[in-house]
Amino acid sequence: DLRQLVRSVCADHRELHPLRPVEVVLPDRAMQFEGDAILIEQILTNFLSNAEKYSPAGQPISVVLERQGEFCICAVSDRGIGIPAAERARIFDRFYRAANVAHLSGTGLGLSLSQTLARLHGGDIHCESIDPGGTRFILKLPGSDLHHARQPQGG
Ligand code: ATP
Ligand code: MG
Repeated sequence: DLRQLVRSVCADHRELHPLRPVEVVLPDRAMQFEGDAILIEQILTNFLSNAEKYSPAGQPISVVLERQGEFCICAVSDRGIGIPAAERARIFDRFYRAANVAHLSGTGLGLSLSQTLARLHGGDIHCESIDPGGTRFILKLPGSDLHHARQPQGG
C-alpha cells in the first residue's frame, strides 16, 4: 500500500527535520503497488531532501498521494527557490545542478537516479513550477491493474 510507504517517508523526514511542517494528504482507500518499496522510498526521500534543502526554513512541504485514472501519483511541493525555466529540462541529467543552487552542496545525482528508478517500475518523474514561488516534483507509477497487465503471460 503506497499510503504506508508515503507515511513512513514523511515520518522519517519529520524526525530528521522536526521544525519543518510536512503536510500529507492520502487517499481513503488502499493504493496497492507492486514494486520495490526501498527503491520507491528512495525516490520520495530524494524529493523531500531537495524540498528541504532548496526551501527556506519554516516553509511547509506538501505531499499528496492520489490516483489519476490508472496512475498512482505522488507529488511533493515546496515554497522554495524554484528552478530557472531555462534549466528545468536539464536537472534530470547526471551531475547537473542549476546555477541558483551553487551556494548549496550536492552532487546532482538524486534526480537522475530517481528518474531511473521510476522508469524501472514502469513510471516516470517530472517537475512543475509553482506560482508565486516553489517547485512540485511528481512521481507517476502505473496502477496495479496496468502493472499486472504488463507482466509476461504464461502458456
Ligand atoms: P544530490 O545528488 O546530493 O541530491 P542535488 O540536490 O544537487 O544533489 P538533484 O537532487 O539531482 O541533485 O537535483 C538536481 C538539481 O535540480 C539541483 O541541484 C537543483 O538545481 C534542482 N532542484 C531539485 N529539486 C529542487 C527543488 N525542490 N527546488 C529547487 N531546485 C531543485
Ligand atoms: Mg538532491
